[in-house]
Amino acid sequence: AAPAPAMAEAAAAPRVPSDEDGDECLPQYRHLLSPDLLAGQVAFITGGGSGIGFRIAEIFMRHGCRTVIASRNLQRVSEASQKLMAATGQQCLPLSMDVRQPQTIAAAVDEALKEFKRIDILINGAAGNFLCPASALSFNAFKTVIDIDTMGTFNTSKVLFEKYFRDHGGVIVNITATLSYRGQALQVHAGAAKAAIDAMTRHLAVEWGPNNIRVNSLAPGPILGTEGFRRLGGKFAEESDMFSTIPLQRAGNKTEIAHSTLYLASPLSSYVTGTTLVVDGGSWLTSPNCFSALLGTASSSAK
Ligand code: NAP
Repeated sequence: AAPAPAMAEAAAAPRVPSDEDGDECLPQYRHLLSPDLLAGQVAFITGGGSGIGFRIAEIFMRHGCRTVIASRNLQRVSEASQKLMAATGQQCLPLSMDVRQPQTIAAAVDEALKEFKRIDILINGAAGNFLCPASALSFNAFKTVIDIDTMGTFNTSKVLFEKYFRDHGGVIVNITATLSYRGQALQVHAGAAKAAIDAMTRHLAVEWGPNNIRVNSLAPGPILGTEGFRRLGGKFAEESDMFSTIPLQRAGNKTEIAHSTLYLASPLSSYVTGTTLVVDGGSWLTSPNCFSALLGTASSSAK
């Protein structure tokens, strides 16, 4: 018998969700999950004005969530919020704060609570990174990455805990990385910072579980259309076909990271806490630890 129309449509659905380069919303979106999965909820997303954080905000809003997007550059988050609201019809509050300065986080969280009266989800996405061999890395450069990534994640989580989650429960998703799993070359600063966050995820899951707070990490692999991808030699890896070493034979996209974050932030994962979800197409298992490729120097010697 011929399949029912709905089934025929489902069979034709692409296996990889589409994405859009740069910090632009998706021109169209096909829901795989209920559009009201996060209805009535509010998410506070650090680094939500760009890259992966921007797409997380968009996908959450497409599932009924209102968002706060917060980072240092107010113009960046303000422009992003205009795009997000236009594409999704949901509210998005842009706020300026620095995750290294707890008083600026406290002011932003106060403002968010004044506006929305609740915060259900915290996404710690703010981070800084660059490629540098340990031998050339200044003491200050190492400290800066720890300050933004590790301290920033702790600072924001603690402020949210004190101001809202302790009494109301909540969900925290920390965006980390797989860099430390194999000691990625030129990444001692970010690898150490993100490994500390994965540890923090487990500690906070244990301590805050009784307050009905779930805490998990999500570790992306190489993700197209991001600042991280551009800075970390992704273009070269793409051109030189290095992605063929990844089990799924390709880089990931921001929509895929946002979908996995949606899973961790939503009641779909209601019994999941203290874990790290790796979303990398199997990349860390097989990708070579290649200095010259990371520095892009292999491109000149290869040509
Ligand atoms: P991105 O666009 O550069 O995002 C980083 C964000 O953090 C920016 O919006 C930035 O905004 C914000 N930020 C930086 N310092 C801050 C501070 N001190 N206080 C508040 N906000 C700050 O990078 P992305 O590539 O999309 O990465 C997003 C997350 O995914 C990061 O945690 C990254 O480590 C992780 N990740 C990415 C990849 C990848 O392939 N792209 C792979 C693995 C992990 P302002 O400049 O306005 O502050």
